[in-house]
Amino acid sequence: MARVFNFSAGPAALPEPVLRECAEEMLDYRGSGMSVMEMSHRSPLYQSIIDDAEATLRRVMGIPANYHVLFLQGGATLQFAGVPLNLMRHGRAGYVVSGNWSQKACQEARRYGSAEVVASSEGTGFDRVPEFPSDLDQSLDYLYLCQNETVFGNMMRDFPDAGSVPLVADVSSCFLSLPLDVSRFGLVYAGVQKNAGPAGVTVVIVRDDLVQDGPALGVCPSYMDFRLEAERGSMLNTPNCWGIYVCGKVFRWVEEQGGLEAMEARNLAKVGPLYDYLDHSALFSPSVLPGHRSIANVCFRTGDEALDGEFVTGAAERGIANLKGHRLAGGMRASCYNAVPQEAVDALLAYMSDFEARHLPRTRPI
Ligand code: PMP
Repeated sequence: MARVFNFSAGPAALPEPVLRECAEEMLDYRGSGMSVMEMSHRSPLYQSIIDDAEATLRRVMGIPANYHVLFLQGGATLQFAGVPLNLMRHGRAGYVVSGNWSQKACQEARRYGSAEVVASSEGTGFDRVPEFPSDLDQSLDYLYLCQNETVFGNMMRDFPDAGSVPLVADVSSCFLSLPLDVSRFGLVYAGVQKNAGPAGVTVVIVRDDLVQDGPALGVCPSYMDFRLEAERGSMLNTPNCWGIYVCGKVFRWVEEQGGLEAMEARNLAKVGPLYDYLDHSALFSPSVLPGHRSIANVCFRTGDEALDGEFVTGAAERGIANLKGHRLAGGMRASCYNAVPQEAVDALLAYMSDFEARHLPRTRPI
C-alpha cells in the first residue's frame, strides 16, 4: 500500500489512525455485529455515537452552552440558503466578500432578501482580506464572512466589530485548524470534508436566542429550520450516520493531539516554511499578501501556465498529489490541513527547489 502526500483542497487527507480505526470497525462496530452504516439512527448505540461526537466537539472548540450544535447534510452550499432562511428577519444582511465562497453565499442570499456587499477584495483578485467597514449599519440582520477563502488562499485572523449585528462565519476550510472564539459569532458553520471527516456533513453552531422563534422566513424547509433540528438532535430525518461517526473520531484525534492550539502550531510549522520559500523564490510567487495568508490553502504560481502544469504533473509522479489550483485562481494550491503531515510539506519543498533549479534558466531573460 502506498499512500501519497495528499494536498487536496477537499475532500482531503484524513488522519491515518482514524482511517485505520474505521477499517477495524467496518464489519462489526464494537460487538454489535453490524457496521455503523447498517445501524438504525434511532438505536441507543447510534445515539451514543452522535452524542459523543457533539460532546467532543464542544470540548475541543470550547462551544458555550447557549449554542446549538447541528450535524446537517447538503454541504456548506446549502447553508448559503440556510443562513438567510433562518436569520434574515428584516430582509437585509451585509456580506464581506473575500473570494469565491462569500460571493456565492451573497448571491444565494439574494434569493431571499437584500444581501449588501459591505466590503470586497475582488478588485485586487482576492489577494487579501478586505478592509472591514468601521460603521456598520446596525439594522442589518447579520454580517456574513468566510474566514478562510479556500480558492484564493486568504484568511481572516481578526473579525469585524459588528456592534449588535450578529456575525455569521463560514469556517469550512479552517475548521479545527486553529482556535476560534465561538462567542463572537451568532452562527458559524463548516462543511467537514477538509479537516473533520468525509463529505456530506455540515456542522452548524448557532446561538440559541437567534433561532428560538423559528426561521425568519416562512418558506424555510423543515429540514433547514435550525430550531427544529436542534429540538430533534439533528435527527429530524435520517442523518449522515457514517459521516458523523467519522467526524467524532476526528474530533477525538484533534483532542488527543493537544487540541486547537496544537493544531495551529503544527499548521503554522507547515505553511510558514512554504510561504517563506515562496517569498524568496525567483520562480514561484505567492498569490496572497503577507498578513492575509491562509493557514491551510497555500496558493502560488510561476506566471507561466504551461510551467504550472509541468510542476503539478511532475509532483504527482513523485507521489505529491492534488496541487493544481482551483480553475478560478489558476496556478497551484497546496492545502495543508490538519491531517497533512510535516513530511508532505518537506517533500513538496524539496521538489519545489529541485524544480526551480531545473527551470530557472528558462525563465531568465537572455
Ligand atoms: N465554503 C468554503 C469556504 C468552501 O471551501 C467550500 C468548498 N470547497 C464551500 C463553502 C462549499 O462546500 P460544499 O461543497 O460542501 O457545499
